Amino acid sequence: MFQTEIIEQDVVIIGAGGAGLRAALELADAKYNIAIISKVPVLKSHTIAAQGGINAPLGNYGADQADWFIYDTVKASDYLADQDAVEILCNEAEQVINDLAALAVPFTKDEQGQIYQRKYGGQTVNFGAALARRACGVGDQTGAEIMLKLHQAVLAKQNIKIYAEHFAIELLTDAQQISGVLIWDFASGKIKIFKTKYIIIASGGFAGLYKTNTAAQICTGDGLSLALRAGAMLKDMEFVQFHPTALSSNGVLISEAARGEGAYLTNNLGEKFMEQYAPKYRDLASRDVIARAIFNELKEGRGCGEAADHVHLNIAHLGKEIIDKYLSNLVSNSKLFAKIDPYQEPIPVRPAAHYTMGGIATDKNSRVIGLSGLYAIGEAACTSVHGANRLGCNSLLELMVFGKQAALAIKEDFKANDLVVQHEVSLKKFHDNFREIKSLADIAELKSALGKILEDYVGVVRDEASLQQALVEYNKLSAEIEQLTISDTNLKHNNELLALLELKNLNQLARIVIESALARQESRGAHYRSDHPQRDDQKFMQHSIYSDAVGLDFAEVRKITGRLAAKLKPEARKY
Ligand code: FAD
Repeated sequence: MFQTEIIEQDVVIIGAGGAGLRAALELADAKYNIAIISKVPVLKSHTIAAQGGINAPLGNYGADQADWFIYDTVKASDYLADQDAVEILCNEAEQVINDLAALAVPFTKDEQGQIYQRKYGGQTVNFGAALARRACGVGDQTGAEIMLKLHQAVLAKQNIKIYAEHFAIELLTDAQQISGVLIWDFASGKIKIFKTKYIIIASGGFAGLYKTNTAAQICTGDGLSLALRAGAMLKDMEFVQFHPTALSSNGVLISEAARGEGAYLTNNLGEKFMEQYAPKYRDLASRDVIARAIFNELKEGRGCGEAADHVHLNIAHLGKEIIDKYLSNLVSNSKLFAKIDPYQEPIPVRPAAHYTMGGIATDKNSRVIGLSGLYAIGEAACTSVHGANRLGCNSLLELMVFGKQAALAIKEDFKANDLVVQHEVSLKKFHDNFREIKSLADIAELKSALGKILEDYVGVVRDEASLQQALVEYNKLSAEIEQLTISDTNLKHNNELLALLELKNLNQLARIVIESALARQESRGAHYRSDHPQRDDQKFMQHSIYSDAVGLDFAEVRKITGRLAAKLKPEARKY
């Protein structure tokens, strides 16, 4: 039915965001033939939107060290992060900044010519003694600058080929071993069967599952669904980060960099309410703490505006010079989307879904557990460096560190290709998306309805009743989504088909998010159960793990031994 083409490749990377590009660069030296697949042009990958920065304990403004950074990351994770992976993340951070500087990423510098570092939530020196200045950035456009430089470097490599506007439909496997991937080329309408033994999934997160979110339209968790269908496990899916300061009008992010520079939140009484919730670090407490504080202020009727549905982020006191130098993105977004002048007026904000801590379960070197030849990095992965809550500016760092780690793992594992690829079953499944049209349901409307279920019942605060309600409504909607087919079999630039495939992927993840949230009867990090408000280390100091073969289960958190171990023991999380 469809035109197909077979392409042989040493390594295929699904995703051209920061993680995918970093992995490709590290692999290029090994002279492999590398394909990077992206459903959008490279520079529309979501990393381009990253604003505030990337963490590294450079110590440009007083002492700092990797051990303090490890402590902050594990504490912010509410002790759910795998500590061996966090060690790698934090120990590699300084090298990452050096590598990016060598690629000519123009980090903002201070008068002394050293890289400017700002405060960010939950980052401290000396195991919580005082706030640290650890975030390095390029103004508030850090992701864009990193992407430009990585892209240029990738373009210079002869052995990397970029397939932009190509969509990964299904992974191909042979007895728990990766053997290839089915790719749909939007422009030619062909289905390309990539034969390869090594695939890295770097396809980003799934914050797009929520109706209001700070993420790009493309964040539909495709890679997670692909991996799940191929037999991989998804981990910690109940942990979705709600960023405290998204514009109340449409969810566009107002970067934490603002609070790093001294902005603060107020309620309708003009109170700096974070003083009550986090007396020591106030507006620079961890994100989950601030999102819950805002939720509570709104619930108690102290929201601003006619609908009392937001709080105020005050930045005008910082002055034009600081705002223009470090927060220019924030100015344009506030003017464009909230129609306010941030030099004069407070910005109306409220929490919105932002980042997904859960993802494809990997070991500490980015190998996907249970499937040989598959690796996962970036937001698609659960390398488990964020646990129940991510520290701001740790994602860009994760992309760089584990992009490299995955490449090193492939170099270690690599054996030449000698596979016969069986792709007929997957192609048949793809065919099933096209039938005589039975439903004219609007795909966008169904996506929005799915997002609303998650937003209404699986939000900043959840409980048994809301989650059960989510499940009931999900079960009804999900059946409709699964049966959805389209009649137009012309694959050239078929936007309806793209929307359908993305929605089916999201639909698969939604159930796991709800079921994992139901199973975790405690509050930890971003998962707050009002019916179980305490953390329960006895029962739930464990990762949730989901696979199609076993269903939902729990697995051990990896701890480290040695000099730092005592500092990383769970304690009450106060900021
Ligand atoms: P992405 O950059 O999301 O790239 C995914 C890639 O996969 C894309 O190329 C896409 O085309 C491709 N893809 C997806 N599905 C398919 C498919 N089916 N077939 C083919 N290709 C596919 N983090 C920080 O550390 N610091 C910050 O300052 C910061 N600011 C942020 C600001 C905003 C507004 C948001 C929403 C997030 C921010 N984050 C920040 C988080 C961070 O930007 C992301 O977690 C990170 O960029 C994800 O990168 P990635 O490489 O994993 O995936």
